[in-house]
Amino acid sequence: MAKLINGKQISAQLLEQVSVQVQQLKDNHGVTPGLAVVLVGEDPASQVYVRNKIHSAAEAGIRSVEHRLSADTSQAALDELIDKLNRDSEIHGILVQLPLPAHLNEDDVIAAIDPLKDVDGFHPLNSGALAAGQSGLVPCTPLGCMIMLQQTHGDLSGMTAVVIGRSNIVGKPMAALLLQANCTVTIAHSRTRDLADVCRQADIVIAAVGRAQLVTEDWIMPGATVIDVGINAIELDGRRKLVGDVDFNSVEPIAGAITPVPGGVGPMTIACLMKNTLSAARMQLSIPD
Ligand code: NDP
Repeated sequence: MAKLINGKQISAQLLEQVSVQVQQLKDNHGVTPGLAVVLVGEDPASQVYVRNKIHSAAEAGIRSVEHRLSADTSQAALDELIDKLNRDSEIHGILVQLPLPAHLNEDDVIAAIDPLKDVDGFHPLNSGALAAGQSGLVPCTPLGCMIMLQQTHGDLSGMTAVVIGRSNIVGKPMAALLLQANCTVTIAHSRTRDLADVCRQADIVIAAVGRAQLVTEDWIMPGATVIDVGINAIELDGRRKLVGDVDFNSVEPIAGAITPVPGGVGPMTIACLMKNTLSAARMQLSIPD
């Protein structure tokens, strides 16, 4: 039976650490980190994510300001808001909840955010810094996965890792972080041949695909660590249920360690957003981490 990597528990510890450091920032520098959360439209999943982020910000002592814009908001109006937030000295982090309505250009919106306030770590300057092994704001989901991996294994040096998925927000930054931690990294995607075979060679498998229960027991080397980033809604016995990209029931008996869905990567992502907001505030005030 695999060790369960409890994202709920680890994220609660992380949030507690962040809230202690937020209080120190208030006490020593008179500054409360501020997070602006921008939601365009009424996507139900996005509304839940935004609610959870605002709730966690309050827990960490971070001041959050929510900006809800209608689905037909123009690119110019969104740019104007971002520009205002970039210039607001009480706002240290700006998060624009994705996906945006189709008429808006996500790349342009991300590029408009001040890289020092880019708490999602999606700005090209931050992704470039990560690829170059330089300091910057790191995307929250891969950062959360790394914290879980380091808690489980300590040093990851020399381990082989397969990341399934090559998106800019999960797969690519995940691979960069694993490389920085001295893993031997393979990035797999929809064109990868013999994907099960590729995964079976790995000490660590990260599934960030968006395909319910794609990864099954025959994909996993006995004793490997499996991190399931996927969030997929399926119908089971007439009820809606959230499952990952990993078929938990078949993989869990042979893996060495595994994250559940829900209660794995999801809560870590939100806790890392708070960690990044604190880091962003410190960077803007030139206070070392
Ligand atoms: P994207 O759709 O942007 O990327 C999916 C990737 O998976 C692509 O690189 C795609 O390959 C690859 N892929 C698709 N089908 C297959 C397949 N059959 N075999 C191998 N690779 C495949 O998704 P995201 O990276 O944004 O998200 C991935 C998952 O993680 C989703 O379920 C999302 O909901 C979840 N997520 C969870 C978060 C959390 O906090 N827990 C945060 C962010 C995302 P190609 O490039 O060739 O098309």
